[in-house]
Amino acid sequence: MRKFTDDRLLVATHNAGKLDEIRALLAPYGVDVVGAAAMGLQEPAETETSFVGNARIKAHAAAQATGLPALSDDSGIAIDALDGAPGVYTADWAETETGRDFGKAMSRAHEALLASKEPQPWTARFCCTLVLAWPDGHDEVFEGTVEGWVVWPIRGAEGHGYDPMFQPLGHDLTFAEMSPAKKNRISHRADAFGKLVAGCFG
Ligand code: IMP
Repeated sequence: MRKFTDDRLLVATHNAGKLDEIRALLAPYGVDVVGAAAMGLQEPAETETSFVGNARIKAHAAAQATGLPALSDDSGIAIDALDGAPGVYTADWAETETGRDFGKAMSRAHEALLASKEPQPWTARFCCTLVLAWPDGHDEVFEGTVEGWVVWPIRGAEGHGYDPMFQPLGHDLTFAEMSPAKKNRISHRADAFGKLVAGCFG
């Protein structure tokens, strides 16, 4: 496992919610975190059909373009009653002509669940794959998950994306009803980050 020894880490995401979470998760390690938008990077097409495939595309493209080590996150929600959908297409379900609309994406998931006639509870998990890539082409991969279920109606105003729809197992609150600090202790991203930190920052 290669250790991270640089001062600066490029986070290969244009998603402000993810960037904030990653910045907070890396704060204790004294790393200067810079986002892809601040570096003027374009978002590469995510043409793979797995989280790890798409995470690799994003991390390697950013590392090649900047000469900096780059960390990418590919993530999504997999709903059992929908055979794992939206999965790698989680962001795509939110696309509209005027940008991403997660209210619409969550309604789409709810409508698909009603159409499936599957009984509640609607079990689901958030998945996160992190890839840390270096400009020489080396990379390290870390995966995290958090189990829970889809709730309807949606609840809470914190967080981002599908947070108002997801209640993690063992908790009464959705991700969007929790403080960001609480979510960051139990999320799929926190799970993957724990492995990244143990492997590359330890
Ligand atoms: P990606 O940028 O292709 O990885 O898209 C990930 C999708 O999953 C985005 O639509 C996110 O909003 C959603 N997502 C990933 N992590 C979370 C989370 O922690 N909370 C809510 N939605 C998430």
